[in-house]
Amino acid sequence: MNQNFRGTGMLDDHSYDFGRAKKQEPKTVICPTSIDAIKEALRGPEADIAIRGRAHCTGGQSLTAGGTVIDMKRYSKIGEITEREGIGHIVEVQAGASWKDVFNYCLGRGLIPPVYADWLDLTVGGTVSTGGVGQCSFKKGLQADNVIALEVVTGMGEVLYCDGDENQFLFNLVRGGLGQYGVISRAWVKLETAPKMVAVHKLLYTDLHQYLAAQTKLTEFEKIDGIQSHIVVSEKEELRRRMATDLPEDIYNALTERLYIVEVMQYSCESSDDFMRFLDENLDIQPRYTHSYEMDFWQHANRVPPLLEHPLEQGAPKHHHCCFFIGASRASELLAYVFSQTGHEQAMGKGTILVVPLKRSLIKAPYIVLPGEEDQFFVGILRRHLEPCEFNELIRLNESTYQKILEQGGAIYPVGSGGFLEDPVFWRRHYGNMYKEIVEGKMKYDLRLSPNVNLIARKK
Ligand SMILES: Cc1cc2nc3c(=O)[nH]c(=O)nc-3n(C[C@H](O)[C@H](O)[C@H](O)COP(=O)(O)OP(=O)(O)OC[C@H]3O[C@@H](n4cnc5c(N)ncnc54)[C@H](O)[C@@H]3O)c2cc1C
Repeated sequence: MNQNFRGTGMLDDHSYDFGRAKKQEPKTVICPTSIDAIKEALRGPEADIAIRGRAHCTGGQSLTAGGTVIDMKRYSKIGEITEREGIGHIVEVQAGASWKDVFNYCLGRGLIPPVYADWLDLTVGGTVSTGGVGQCSFKKGLQADNVIALEVVTGMGEVLYCDGDENQFLFNLVRGGLGQYGVISRAWVKLETAPKMVAVHKLLYTDLHQYLAAQTKLTEFEKIDGIQSHIVVSEKEELRRRMATDLPEDIYNALTERLYIVEVMQYSCESSDDFMRFLDENLDIQPRYTHSYEMDFWQHANRVPPLLEHPLEQGAPKHHHCCFFIGASRASELLAYVFSQTGHEQAMGKGTILVVPLKRSLIKAPYIVLPGEEDQFFVGILRRHLEPCEFNELIRLNESTYQKILEQGGAIYPVGSGGFLEDPVFWRRHYGNMYKEIVEGKMKYDLRLSPNVNLIARKK
């Protein structure tokens, strides 16, 4: 049965994204529950159609002024887990499903997706359309690398199955494609055996160079399954929260301006001692600056991540995220530039910086633009301001950071805020010699989707 929602009652919710900085009111909101309803929505009369997972982008990527929003959240059934030769277990899901639902459904059967975000409320279609960085990415690539096939309703209203062999061009375009070529309606996601418990190790650094070098070194140690890290302002309470413990008093007394906290996860708690030995032999950190504990895996994966605990307590601030990939050899210079832009409070509000190490060779989705270096970092500058804040000033900060990223050979992860989204000149530079394939893809599959991302100058 077609249970489309059409009307004005939901429009307010769909006029904002997580950033809450830009308001664009759509004319129509459609929440399809069938493939026919998605097809029908795409054949509708509106000039602009935006696709929405749960709108976690902060720059209006899933908004439209006066057009149609296709809200995928009700297209969210989770299908059978099957086994495929040469691949192992896979789960078939409708793309509006949240990772939380997929994760917990599979975990109940002893399996998990190889890569998952720290915040599981993102949707499958949403993160496949951006890339999907997780703490396991340094070992297993992005979420977009861990779907083996997709079903897409193209902007022309055609339903196509695609994978590495069949409709390969479409399969490549939509992974990291920001909803530019069609609606991802179904995904077949790889699975692996889930652990029951995890060992968590928190490492506190006070020096930027040591902190970055430590993460790259950690990626070499086989018995680690997850690495992510945060840069936060030096505050006793914040540090206690991030380290999940009290530290010796003299550490609090000697805090530097910023703190760098690495979180390491091991699926095998028996390997904890090996990890401590690795630390001792390879990394310059005293045990007093570390904290290790074991935790039930479900609880660990479903916790409100340290990055969000604080914001959720504080109501609904505005976010102006600036996210990018940067080669390991350039990261400390770039981050030093970010720190120098303005005082932490002024530039970041109560936000933090998320850093995740990656390996270039493990990221296979070809149209996700990355720096050339094998060792690199995903960096999310998660500016977060309680009102009132100077919106234009923060956007200006993002813009100047983007310039610096490009000068340093980095690449923008286009989920944040900034004028670049609507600038085809930016996109031509972003894709470089792949740009002509992007234009070809747009011409072939769609010319009106996701209007705030202006890849090929279709708007004035
Ligand atoms: C709290 C928070 C945590 C985050 N954590 C991570 C993280 O761990 N890893 C990471 O990589 N990013 C993360 N992000 C960044 C990014 O915003 C999300 O990856 C992305 O936006 C997915 O969220 P969503 O499912 O709500 O999709 P949306 O934000 O709604 O959509 C993302 C893009 O994909 C398009 N889209 C959505 N669904 C579909 C579909 N079915 N078919 C085609 N196109 C579609 C939209 O038009 C938009 O361009 C996070 C953002 C926030 C605010």
